[in-house]
Amino acid sequence: MVVSWSSRVYITRTMLEIDQDACLDCGGCVPLCPEEALFLSFNRLECDHNACTMCLICIQFCPVGALGESRAVEV
Ligand code: SF4
Ligand code: SF4
Repeated sequence: MVVSWSSRVYITRTMLEIDQDACLDCGGCVPLCPEEALFLSFNRLECDHNACTMCLICIQFCPVGALGESRAVEV
């Protein structure tokens, strides 16, 4: 989505957000990702945002609701 405020143009992008406080780092969501965007690094869940297509599979799966969407702004 492209948003223009005054003379500047901003691009908003929906990204996967990991609630690191809620995440149990169980790894259960990792093999479900069709893009292999999720991985554990030093026993902590991380996401390759360039690979993630926001298909929402992992968000729907997580038993503790640790995954969600966030809106990032790129200038
Ligand atoms: S996001 Fe959920 S399913 Fe994925 S590692 Fe964290 S607790 Fe497990
Ligand atoms: S939203 Fe879909 S593509 Fe992105 S990390 Fe989760 S399962 Fe993978």
